[in-house]
Amino acid sequence: MSATRVLVLNSGSSSVKYQLLEMTDHSRLASGLVERIGEEGGVADHTAALRQVAAELEDRGLGLDSPELAAVGHRVVHGGTSFTEPTLVTDAVLAEIERLVPLAPLHNPANITGIKVARDLRPDLPQVAVFDTAFHATIPEAAARYAIDTATADRYGIRRYGFHGTSHAYVSRAAAALLGRAPAEVNVIVLHLGNGASASAVRGGVCVDTSMGMTPLEGLVMGTRSGDIDPAVVFHLARVAGMDVDAIDTLLNKGSGLLGLSGDNDMREIGRRMAEGDERARLAFDVYVHRLRRYVGAFTAVLGRVDAVVFTAGVGENSAAVRAAALSGLEGLGIEVDPVRNAVRGSAARLISAESSRVSVAVVPTDEELEIARDTYALARG
Ligand code: AMP
Repeated sequence: MSATRVLVLNSGSSSVKYQLLEMTDHSRLASGLVERIGEEGGVADHTAALRQVAAELEDRGLGLDSPELAAVGHRVVHGGTSFTEPTLVTDAVLAEIERLVPLAPLHNPANITGIKVARDLRPDLPQVAVFDTAFHATIPEAAARYAIDTATADRYGIRRYGFHGTSHAYVSRAAAALLGRAPAEVNVIVLHLGNGASASAVRGGVCVDTSMGMTPLEGLVMGTRSGDIDPAVVFHLARVAGMDVDAIDTLLNKGSGLLGLSGDNDMREIGRRMAEGDERARLAFDVYVHRLRRYVGAFTAVLGRVDAVVFTAGVGENSAAVRAAALSGLEGLGIEVDPVRNAVRGSAARLISAESSRVSVAVVPTDEELEIARDTYALARG
């Protein structure tokens, strides 16, 4: 029996998501979620959560001891400048991921625990770390550098890393396939609009700019994150409002974005409230869409020639209203959405641009787990 299955683990700050994939046909054999880690009613910690995942798989006859399991792929949020591609986990690799914890204090520790527990359960199995930042490692210095003192920036690792990399990689490739062209031939703007949201500019399959920065806080308006903001707002809140750094961090990461503007972080709820004439919901929608349009314009200039604008993730795949509003009035850039195509719902990759549109507009469902599984399987097979 050959080993053709990959377990993908996505250990977040308070949850662990998993999928078991059969790589010969990309079918999903099992998937699940352990939530509320460390919270009331949930499991105690990440170690307990991972053990629960192992037990759930065992119950379904798909335990970690199965000889068909080829490898475990771990989503790791921050790879800094150390990791620019998927990496087979060794003690040295694990130590380096630990060294990067200050850059992602909420995420990397959970990822590390996931790797350690999986290694304990199956020491003989290849464990592969797939980094959220890796796809953006090709961004040129002009776009990756912040204009601050270079010595300070280098000393503290302050630069644009970007995130959602597995999604941007998967979706930009799938978009090229939808256009019937090779990734190397097309320039794509990817708009990953989930609870977290980011845009990327991909030239010929290579990422050249992205909206998220040193952390996932920068860029687009998100469910609970502000995205771009004048950094002096932070000083002002400290000096004038008397808030400490942690309170400001919480405000900008967890109490801002759609939630801060309207009281709801879910675009479905914003849509419902707008239909009832709710002004705060309308304002949140307008701010969200304005920011998106701004990035489409900016990345059009960065790329010079755009072949496709592609929407993905929860909002991007489902909200025709956001797609239409974000790209309305962009005929001058050669971007025209067809209202009928845009209104069609579905789970397949599809074009929503008008026949007359110079730039293709597409909806492409993302699949970060499959991308991680492919990277993992490729490395595990050597
Ligand atoms: P994700 O992070 O990709 O799972 O996206 C989650 C977000 O997608 C939710 O917070 C919602 O705001 C949004 N979403 C999911 N379904 C819909 C829908 N049918 N219409 C609009 N937004 C949606």
